[in-house]
Amino acid sequence: MKSETFNPENLARPNVLRMKAYTSARDEFTGQASTLLDANENPFDDGLNRYPDPRQRALKAEIADWKGVSEDQIFLGNGSDEAIDLLYRVFCDPGKDAVLLTPPTYGMYKVCAALNDIEILEVPLDGNFQPETAEIIRTCQLEKPKMLFLCSPNNPTGNLIDPAAIETIMQQFSGIVVLDEAYIDFAPGKSFLPKLADYPNLVILQTFSKAMGLAGIRLGMAFASPEIIALLNKIKPPYNVNILTQQAALQQLKNRSETDLERNTLMDEREKLRIGLKQLPNVQHIYPSDANFLSVEFENPQEVYQLLMAQGIIVRDRSHEVKNTLRITIGTPAQNKNLLQILKNA
Ligand SMILES: *Cc1c(COP(=O)(O)O)cnc(C)c1O
Repeated sequence: MKSETFNPENLARPNVLRMKAYTSARDEFTGQASTLLDANENPFDDGLNRYPDPRQRALKAEIADWKGVSEDQIFLGNGSDEAIDLLYRVFCDPGKDAVLLTPPTYGMYKVCAALNDIEILEVPLDGNFQPETAEIIRTCQLEKPKMLFLCSPNNPTGNLIDPAAIETIMQQFSGIVVLDEAYIDFAPGKSFLPKLADYPNLVILQTFSKAMGLAGIRLGMAFASPEIIALLNKIKPPYNVNILTQQAALQQLKNRSETDLERNTLMDEREKLRIGLKQLPNVQHIYPSDANFLSVEFENPQEVYQLLMAQGIIVRDRSHEVKNTLRITIGTPAQNKNLLQILKNA
């Protein structure tokens, strides 16, 4: 939607618009105080006795700087998975609304739709795992889903989605377009973040779980217009990002040169692994990857899976989604070498 008249409140669940948000103690008072007797915390200082900042202001200031967006365009959640669930809970009415998905893609979109009792419309990706743009637009006009998800680079296929297709869909669809960029740091293509100003119906998801190396802290980011972010903030659990997570993320943002180096190593390793795998007789196809994994079609995926497991190496079997395919995450140089050696010897 390029229209200036787009208002996300017209898409939101009526009860979300009607409800009054919970205001926490730390929301009501935000200045400097010497004595906090407002939140029934244990007063003895152990570094963690206080509730975290519900608006994560220090962390958002750093992220805003890093990503070139303003703080009111950022939502932070307990992983991207929380943002996905909250998007359904803002925009899709249970038992009434629909979402459009483009399989094969990330499984959580479907799980959260099912949990929220949202009808799922599917327009599968084409043979090159690109969206069937015309069919998507036709289905949107006919079935009027409230929201659609695109994942670029896509999981489990690994490829970037054609940016022109994303733009066409954003222009033609009047609902919310969620663009999941969990793997964008590994891709040669650019993030859609600079397009936020042009598309008021765009929500971009990114995460600290992949290139940033912090899957364990559970921190996901959603970027969108201040109006959409305000709706997400209205319904989020007040203290959804804990103090340890906020601290670890702030610390990691100071180590950007290190995570950048790791990212470059992983991208080099991705090519080495591709070359190594290509020489194996039972490898039928390696899908192009702009992410930190390779989706590999084997003649005998179950056998390979078992063989690797017997050596203590776990990969992801995606053969129910993409024919005969195992999804292999790029490991350290030593891990990748070991993996190739085992497959060669087999
Ligand atoms: C890994 C991944 C995420 C990250 O989810 P978190 O909850 O932030 O860990 C999001 N989307 C896709 C497609 C992923 O593969």
